[in-house]
Amino acid sequence: MSTRRVSTSRGVRDSAICDSHLQVVKASLDAIRTREDLRARRSADPVDFVHRYVAREDRELVALVSSACAFGHVKVIHQKLTELFALVGPSPSHAADAPRMLLSRLSGFRHRLFRGDDLARLLIGARAVQREAGSLGAAFVHELAKADRDAAKCDRDETAALRASSTAVASESRLGRSARSPRKRTCRTCAGAAAPNRRIDFAQQAGELALKEALASFCDRIRIAGGFARAGERNVDGRRGPSHLLPDARAGSAAKRILLFLRWMVRPADGVDLGLWDVPTSRLVIPVDVHIHKLAKNLGLTSRRDVSWKTAVEITRALTRFDARDPVRYDFSLCHMGMIQRCPSRRDPSRCTGCGVKRVCTHWAAPTTIALGRLCSPPDVRDFMAPSVRA
Ligand code: SF4
Repeated sequence: MSTRRVSTSRGVRDSAICDSHLQVVKASLDAIRTREDLRARRSADPVDFVHRYVAREDRELVALVSSACAFGHVKVIHQKLTELFALVGPSPSHAADAPRMLLSRLSGFRHRLFRGDDLARLLIGARAVQREAGSLGAAFVHELAKADRDAAKCDRDETAALRASSTAVASESRLGRSARSPRKRTCRTCAGAAAPNRRIDFAQQAGELALKEALASFCDRIRIAGGFARAGERNVDGRRGPSHLLPDARAGSAAKRILLFLRWMVRPADGVDLGLWDVPTSRLVIPVDVHIHKLAKNLGLTSRRDVSWKTAVEITRALTRFDARDPVRYDFSLCHMGMIQRCPSRRDPSRCTGCGVKRVCTHWAAPTTIALGRLCSPPDVRDFMAPSVRA
C-alpha cells in the first residue's frame, strides 16, 4: 500500500466541563453499569449471536455480520439475524468456504437495504481475509501497525509545524500581544471554570487517525475479497445497499457499526465483549449513533452537532478522563441510558423521569438556579432507582 498522508484532526476539542462535574457524570455512569445485569442486557443485543459460537473464526464472522446489520429496531434486528444464521448453518466459516452454496442458501433473504447476496459476499470476503491473514484480528493488527508507521512518517513535518505555531501563539499570549484573547472556558453544566483546553497531544491525535486509516484499509480488504462496491458507490446491479455494509471511515462518518464490531473483539471478555483481539483498549473509539450523541451532548461530553468521526473522537476523549486505559467501557452505560430513556434532548418531564443522569444533564442542572456545591456533591443512590422503587 502506498504511504498515505495523515492530516491532523482539527476541530476535535476537550469537553468543556469542569473536573468536579465530570466526576459526577462518571459516578452516574459507573452506578448504571454496576446496577445493570450485563448478561440479561446482552440477550437483547446483536452481540448475543456471537456468544452462540465457539470457534474463533466463526465468532469473528458472526460479529462482523451482526454489527453490519445492527441498525433499526432491536426486535427486527434480532429476528432477521436469527433467520440469517439459521440459513447460514452451524459453522459460518465452513459455509463461507463454499461460496456458491452460501449464495444460493441466502438468496431470497432481505434485511432493510441488504439482500442475502450482499451478506453472503460479506461472509465470503471476510473468510478470504481470515485465510490470508490467519484471522480477522491478525489482519486488523497488521493494518493498524502499518497505519501507525505511516502516521509517524507522514505527520512528522505537520506535527513540527503545528508545534511551532502553537508555541508561537502561547508565547504571544504570555506577552499579551495576542490579537485574540484566549476564550474563557466555563463548564457547560455548572458554569464553573472548565479545565483549559489541554495541549494537543500529538501522539494521541496520530493514534486516532491511524485507527481510522486502519479501519478503512481493513474494510477495503474485505470489500475487495468479497467483490462488492466501495462505500457510497453503486454495485454492478445499480444498488447502493452493498456499499453500506462497511463504512468508509476516511470520509469522516462515525463508522458506528465497525467500531461496535471492534469493541466486541477488543474489550476484555465481560459477558458482553469477547476480548479476542490483541489491540489495546485505549485505542478504541466509541461507536456513536443519534442516541449516544444526544446523551453525550446533554452530559457535556461533546458540543459537536453532527454524528461524525470527530464527534466520536471528542466523546472518547472526554471518557478518557474517566478511564484512560479503557474509555469505551462507558459505552454500555451511555447506550443503556440512550435506549431506555429515548433521550429527548430537551427538558421533557415525562420522558426524563427516572433518567439516571438527570441531575447532571445540561437541560436540568441549570447553572443559574443550581448551586455548584449541590450539583457536584457525590450522587445519591436514589437518583439511580426507578421511580416506583424510590417511592
Ligand atoms: S434528563 Fe432527559 S434530556 Fe437529560 S439526559 Fe436524561 S433523558 Fe436526556
